[in-house]
Amino acid sequence: MKNMKNSPFLAPVPFYWCDKCHTPVMGRFCSCGEKTRQVSVTPPGDVRPAFERDRKLVNWLFEEQFGVPLIPDDFLALLNKVPDEDRMEEVIIGGAVVCAIRYIPAESRWEVLPREAAACLVVPVRHVIKVNDEAARFIRDGSSVLMPGVTYVSSDIAVGDSVFVLTESGECVAVGKAKMSYEETVGATRGQLVRTRRTQLAVVDASPSTWDDAIKANENILNLYEAKSIEFMQDVIDKNPGLQPTISYSGGKDSLVTLLISLKAGLRLPMIFADTGLEFPETVENVHQVAKLFGLELIEESGNAGFWEEFEVQGPPAVDFRWCCKACKLMPVKALIDAKWGEALSFIGQRKFESAKRMQSPRVWRNRNVPCQLSAAPIQHWTAMHDWLYLFREKAPYNPLYELGLDRIGCFMCPSSDLACMKDIEARYPEMWAEWERKLRAWGDANGKSADWAEKGLWRIRETNEEDSDIDGHF
Ligand SMILES: [Zn+2]
Repeated sequence: MKNMKNSPFLAPVPFYWCDKCHTPVMGRFCSCGEKTRQVSVTPPGDVRPAFERDRKLVNWLFEEQFGVPLIPDDFLALLNKVPDEDRMEEVIIGGAVVCAIRYIPAESRWEVLPREAAACLVVPVRHVIKVNDEAARFIRDGSSVLMPGVTYVSSDIAVGDSVFVLTESGECVAVGKAKMSYEETVGATRGQLVRTRRTQLAVVDASPSTWDDAIKANENILNLYEAKSIEFMQDVIDKNPGLQPTISYSGGKDSLVTLLISLKAGLRLPMIFADTGLEFPETVENVHQVAKLFGLELIEESGNAGFWEEFEVQGPPAVDFRWCCKACKLMPVKALIDAKWGEALSFIGQRKFESAKRMQSPRVWRNRNVPCQLSAAPIQHWTAMHDWLYLFREKAPYNPLYELGLDRIGCFMCPSSDLACMKDIEARYPEMWAEWERKLRAWGDANGKSADWAEKGLWRIRETNEEDSDIDGHF
């Protein structure tokens, strides 16, 4: 989280749109032959599909603020996570960022930050201000919205609300934040009503399409990425003939893509699953399901005992103090490899677009805590969008948690999760979460922490100089 804000991203975001196929394309040319146009998204730009639950959330929030749902049923929608206090997502429809949604932890709620482009899809009816054509000209030139020229103010507007500024005929002129409430505008002839926010005027391709269309549009690109990743895998194996090749399988989408690539390469490698004991039930089930489906050997290693022993001593893991990865993943895997092969090569689903840190990670490396494991990342150059298009194309059995609003899958109480996500997890797994909070409170009481520390997520933040930069890497 911290690193995302401070470090530059080295790779340009490879995210484009084909206006003929109406789909995202992960390169400059669509498989239909058309040249694509680049979509401007915030780096790192690990764009992913909005699943049913994400779509519902966006539609519900937009309707609550602007009176209409945003995403038409037969349109593709995508999300792009951007750095913020807790959680913020750009929403992409028709090859344009049409709004962002942002979680406000202090108020335990989401808000929509609209962009003008949204008005190409729907006509907002709440939080709307209308202006005459003369005022519209000034506002389009960058002026804020002043009372003279305003012809309509919707009665739900309070100071600080996000609003759409429309012409009399319903065309969007600007978006911005209200500086006056509806009550203050009644009878007012002067004053600044809205501070407008300049957003790049985007092209919106307002046409329906399906994920099958997107798979077709990305056919050449997916084939190329697949071939390059297979080539890389075979090359690493050839260069390390003495090492047993394995797949690190976590139950997440990246490791599933990596596994599919190994199968395409004609390999049948053993899968290693380091079960922290803090996994979601769906994740454990996915691991077993995938091993069975492809008939691969599954080696499970449990690190759960290590977690609770360390917990007593260290307290809960924190964002910059994730001792858990070392205790529950790295050490058990090290013990396993030592005992079984002495040394091993592991293919891992690490991707550079995940974070700035990953952007700088080599493609083949050894973690100094696990010297017996040579790690290699066949899908290092893939974005989440490549992953998903590939998984859709291959009809692969991905973890169902992604469709429930989780975008990364690890331990259920991972301190690196945002609070928005933790609230969802708490609602879905009340017993697991209550047990975790009970353990947090017990440790907090014994170590002089306040009640808020356990209940408001303060345990996730800890000042420490003990960070071991190595343990952040996938293992
Ligand atoms: Zn096309």
